[in-house]
Amino acid sequence: MLTRIDLRDSSTPDVIDRDLLPRAEFDVETALAKVRPICDDVRHRGTAALVEYARRFDGATISRTRVPAEELTRALEGLDPAVRAALDESIRRARMVHRDQRRSDTTTRVVPGGTVTERWVPVERVGLYVPGGRAVYPSSVVMNVVPAQEAGVGSLAVASPPQREHGGLPHPTILAACALLGVDEVHAAGGAQAIAMLAHGTDECAPVSLVTGPGNVYVAAAKRLLRGIVGIDAEAGPTEIAVLADDSAAPRLVAADLISQAEHDELAAAVLVTPSVALADAVDAELRVQVTAAKHHERIVRALSGRQSATVLVADLDHGLAVTDAYAAEHLEIQTEHAAEVAARVRNAGAVFVGPHSPVSLGDYCAGSNHVLPTGGCACHSSGLSVQSFLRGIHVVAYDRAALAEVAHHVVTLAEAEDLPAHGTAVTVRLEGNGDGTGNG
Ligand code: NAD
Repeated sequence: MLTRIDLRDSSTPDVIDRDLLPRAEFDVETALAKVRPICDDVRHRGTAALVEYARRFDGATISRTRVPAEELTRALEGLDPAVRAALDESIRRARMVHRDQRRSDTTTRVVPGGTVTERWVPVERVGLYVPGGRAVYPSSVVMNVVPAQEAGVGSLAVASPPQREHGGLPHPTILAACALLGVDEVHAAGGAQAIAMLAHGTDECAPVSLVTGPGNVYVAAAKRLLRGIVGIDAEAGPTEIAVLADDSAAPRLVAADLISQAEHDELAAAVLVTPSVALADAVDAELRVQVTAAKHHERIVRALSGRQSATVLVADLDHGLAVTDAYAAEHLEIQTEHAAEVAARVRNAGAVFVGPHSPVSLGDYCAGSNHVLPTGGCACHSSGLSVQSFLRGIHVVAYDRAALAEVAHHVVTLAEAEDLPAHGTAVTVRLEGNGDGTGNG
């Protein structure tokens, strides 16, 4: 079922050619051309453009984006009690983990009378994207909102696609999750146009300083395009799972986990990395059985047979780790003997799931970890969403006269070495005379 890429005879097992690894054909770079006119249009026409795109891309009729407060209350009242209990538990666990990520200010006394403090300040207003095209993601409300709240962000706007069957509002479960978390600003806006709304602002939505959240390839492309106008978290596009497994893995579990992520999107990637041909064969057999029985059978088949999904055969586990590091998966499962030791050697992954009882789906909902994670290889330089994503560190420099005098000659020397003598003068002028800047002594 999965295409095979055989790297076992690779002459340079430590240097992995990334072009040999599976990646989607239609990627963020390709989608950029599509989203550019959409973002420009929202910038110029604001809500009118959003109304039009809601009709074109979501088949929904809306006249405004902002969801009235009574709809949030109504959605929470109508929420299935079992779903409410599950969301409550997801929120409780996410809060535990994200509260521990809070940062305290640090002050370093560099010399007597000279300190540098790093002060952590939350971003004032953020926009949180919650996907809602093919699937509905109340879990993404939790994963965006909890770290923002724990960071102390004062103003939050959530955007999620309008749903035709819900009168142009975002899905009621998403509205209920917002209400549960105390979020009162929610907009019915999806895709690239939602990211543009948050970045540029409209008459109904004040512009934000930072946009976070996962989404499909159009959402990821709009974030890449608007980066700079607005801050963004890592690109969290179509989901990916890589499973590093050996003969000790259970094929049934490996197949179930590959399918669980393929279910998201036909562009989702499912990659098995293994030194065992027997396991690869057994997983293929399991996939055939399990995919047939899966609810979203067609989407899963498209995802598993796309260029982004494959089984990569490797020489041994060391080689497998080199491959998974080069691939830098959003989600990496380790289903091997001594899984914790293998996991400790992973360098690049959005999140690592260790052993047979830590499937990616646990992390999607209720592990306490965040599920908004970097995709498309971005895990080699970026992290998943956390409290840190919503904070800025401000350096506060406070030196007295004696501390400045002690280091002045080094500042002057470096300023002259850079041919910026006025930099040196700005120091020496303070040390002349009585130090009040008048030159009087
Ligand atoms: P979505 O909300 O991301 O996208 C829906 C929107 O896409 C629509 O509102 C529409 O505006 C836009 N769109 C659809 N077709 C378009 C086209 N042809 N041109 C321009 N715009 C178009 O919802 P989705 O589609 O269900 O995708 C959710 C994605 O989020 C999945 O790929 C899933 O894997 C991913 N996800 C990622 C993470 C992560 O952390 N990486 C977490 C959860 C979900």
